[in-house]
Amino acid sequence: MKDIKGLLPNDLCNFVISLGEPAYRGDQIFSWIHKHGVCSFQDMKNLPLTFREELERTSYITCLNVRSKDKGRKGTVKYLLETHDNNAVEAVRMKYGYGVTACLSTQIGCKMACSFCASGMSGFIRNLTASEITDEALRIREDLIQDNINIRNIVLMGVGEPLDNYEASIQALRIFNSKEGLGISFRRMTISTCGLIPGIKRLAEEGIPVTLSVSLHAATDDIRQKLMPINRQYPIKQLMNAAAYFQERTGRRVTFEYALIRDINDSDSDAYRLVDLLQKRSGHVNLIPLNPVIGKGYIRSTSTRINKFRNILKAASIPVTVRRGLGLDVNAACGQLRRRYCR
Ligand code: SAH
Repeated sequence: MKDIKGLLPNDLCNFVISLGEPAYRGDQIFSWIHKHGVCSFQDMKNLPLTFREELERTSYITCLNVRSKDKGRKGTVKYLLETHDNNAVEAVRMKYGYGVTACLSTQIGCKMACSFCASGMSGFIRNLTASEITDEALRIREDLIQDNINIRNIVLMGVGEPLDNYEASIQALRIFNSKEGLGISFRRMTISTCGLIPGIKRLAEEGIPVTLSVSLHAATDDIRQKLMPINRQYPIKQLMNAAAYFQERTGRRVTFEYALIRDINDSDSDAYRLVDLLQKRSGHVNLIPLNPVIGKGYIRSTSTRINKFRNILKAASIPVTVRRGLGLDVNAACGQLRRRYCR
């Protein structure tokens, strides 16, 4: 059985040709699934009945089950979705000034074990398939269709490490980009990574102008490896070189994420060290007030500290923003919703 939600229009055309149908039927199916959000062949009204039956015999359309939706402030909605093998997947819809952003998960659980993050607390179960990642966005879009609103931005910042599930993540982005589907420009897509250097290099050569976001969270190896075990394998210096390579190859500015954790990485000297690290580059820093996760023992920096930290970066002409705490009220610290559900 062919999982057709994960196919690009070209592959879908080849598939229908293999069933003895004309190629344009592939485009029709793609548009039913990705533009109209249809989950059943029976709803594809412009296909002959016999062909719909043939499709049902040979293939299937992955559709995640919507378990719950938690509404938060300012148009944020957190979706808890369920896979066919009863695993929970989180996706978040955020309303920014310019339109809707869909924040998607790429794995069930996570192997990276960052010490402040909830995503890996129940371990790693499996990669999501391209069709499952795609469907997260389609489930969000389902609620927007009646108001004729499109998804404007896609960020792979949910549960999981996208560069540890490289093919499926990129395939999903290519599907989102397809004109026959959502038609979202690559420039409006962001891949966030904890710093898997081979993946960053591969992405630099992929030929798609997405934004890369590097979860830095510390300016010294000492502090960073306490927060992020991956730093032992890929320390800061090499990571910064990989980010520079990405920028050079793609012409796309890299964003550095920095979660502010009280007394861990938020002192003035931490800020000055970050300035040193970034001064000769054109990266942008996104400061995230920590979403404290129960049991981790970390506390969010005070707002005075956050302002001081930001001002030090600003004074050094480093572009910096403080991310609005959109997720807090919907329990959106990464992986929190899923954990509550799994227990
Ligand atoms: N694995 C990828 C993407 C997932 S997490 C990565 O590491 O980038 C998206 C962002 O949220 C990352 O920057 C991550 O470090 C950060 N994050 C995770 N838990 C957090 C928390 N409790 N508070 C603030 N940011 C958190």
